[in-house]
Amino acid sequence: MLLTLITINLLVTLTTSFQSVPDFEACLKNIVNSPDVTFPRDGLKYELARTGVRNLISSFPAAVIYPGTVSEVQQAVKCARAFGYNPVPRSGGHSFEGLSSLGNALVIDFSEKLNKLTVNVQANTATAEPGIRLGNLYTALAQAHPDLMFSAGTCPSVGLGGHVSAGGYGMISRKYGLAADNILSATIVNYNGEIISCSASKNPDLFFALRGGGGGSYGIVVQYELNLFKVPLNAMAKFYWKITEFMTVFPAWYNWATPSAPKELTMQLTIADGYIKLLCHYTGSVSDFQKVLDASGISFQKLDKKTIKPIACSALGSHSFGDSDPKCSKPELVKTYTRLTSSVTKETSRSVIEFYESLTEAQFKTFYDIFRVAPSNAFFQFEAFGGYFNEVSETSIAYPHRGNKITSLHYAIKFSTPYVQSTNPDLVWIEQTTRKLNAFSTGAHYEGYVDFNVPAESYFGPNYNKLVTVKKQFDPHGIFSHASGVNLTPLLPLN
Ligand SMILES: Cc1cc2nc3c(=O)[nH]c(=O)nc-3n(C[C@H](O)[C@H](O)[C@H](O)COP(=O)(O)OP(=O)(O)OC[C@H]3O[C@@H](n4cnc5c(N)ncnc54)[C@H](O)[C@@H]3O)c2cc1C
Repeated sequence: MLLTLITINLLVTLTTSFQSVPDFEACLKNIVNSPDVTFPRDGLKYELARTGVRNLISSFPAAVIYPGTVSEVQQAVKCARAFGYNPVPRSGGHSFEGLSSLGNALVIDFSEKLNKLTVNVQANTATAEPGIRLGNLYTALAQAHPDLMFSAGTCPSVGLGGHVSAGGYGMISRKYGLAADNILSATIVNYNGEIISCSASKNPDLFFALRGGGGGSYGIVVQYELNLFKVPLNAMAKFYWKITEFMTVFPAWYNWATPSAPKELTMQLTIADGYIKLLCHYTGSVSDFQKVLDASGISFQKLDKKTIKPIACSALGSHSFGDSDPKCSKPELVKTYTRLTSSVTKETSRSVIEFYESLTEAQFKTFYDIFRVAPSNAFFQFEAFGGYFNEVSETSIAYPHRGNKITSLHYAIKFSTPYVQSTNPDLVWIEQTTRKLNAFSTGAHYEGYVDFNVPAESYFGPNYNKLVTVKKQFDPHGIFSHASGVNLTPLLPLN
């Protein structure tokens, strides 16, 4: 109680001093070093800034600011608070529901300036600012040492801040865990503009929440310390089959991939455009990888000619590997960004993270019936978990989806015009598909594929109540709140 009163007093002092400037705009413009800031009256500049990359989202922040230092972040939070706006952090801007671009908010965007990485090659660690995009991160690691890797996702433009807040899985996660499993410490700016650091030994509950407990909910992360790995041997492959091979290929893969494949092998199976595509990353030699495939029970007889057979890659080459770099010889193809200029079409996405462990032949047939008639602008992407996911407890960090039974499916449909009516065929399709797929699922979802249609509890499972406690302690007034996060009722009043 005493602590709360002190906090409120501090808040009143802080608010008063920042209100001595005439208005919100003047307050932001007074920030030391004058970071770039844009307001609704700025026309195209504001239009490009307001939504990050999810450009079909109708959200209109009061301003977007691009701080270059932690002190500027602190001042921006204080200005927002003094004039009644919620500060909203944005790193890569990839939130599927536009949660880094809320209305009536000051969006604090890290992607342009707070995006640096400092590597300690001997210790296999790095300090990272949250605005670094994954492509830039992987490239910077390879420049520091050719074998250095961080275990995180496949999309080069995803930002580290939102990714770690969700969990963050990628093509070496069955061996090394999620991005969130490999955070050694973090620093936040809290709702009062104060700096708080956390690790396993300092503010451990906050540290728990920042690793998969949802973005924009406890404070603004301004720095992470990352745990890295040196991975000298990488073997990659990409197998294609026509969708008509589904009943031969998919049940064998499903029954083997999560419970039985060695953890050195991470796989992503995508169904789109009439093909089954199996992307594999094996952290070992090509010959060992081939032995694993031979023993898998999957039929490699009727492969499509687009298939790329197992090949050795460097750490960075494993990220450029694919149809345009089948020999991983062009690591410069890993995309890096200064400012995102191209627009990205909106996707309506859903996720199912936990399928029942074993499915019957009839259930696989139901999958096939769903997939073979999917529209051409839709895709289904399965990730086999198991491996590392089975070695840690579901309560070790806030991300809870662990154990052998889990195979994640992310499916989405892309469309390029704003939707308003519920009769939109893409929306109708995804609703029908969701109803059918839910029959196979335990109802857990991944926060990285955030979706207003599912309750926040389904992202965090047994960790939800602990996250509410952390929220009470570190954001008691609900300054960092959105529809899909851990929220408090009632909120502690501001004064
Ligand atoms: C094309 C695409 C590919 C993807 N691929 C993968 C993948 O391979 N693996 C995977 O696991 N996920 C993947 N995702 C999901 C992705 O990890 C999440 O959408 C993630 O939240 C995006 O982070 P961001 O920083 O880019 O997004 P943002 O929109 O900037 O942030 C997302 C949320 O986190 C909050 N946030 C952002 N920065 C901070 C910060 N510094 N401090 C506190 N909160 C913050 C935001 O306020 C928002 O609530 C993909 C998404 C897309 C669109």
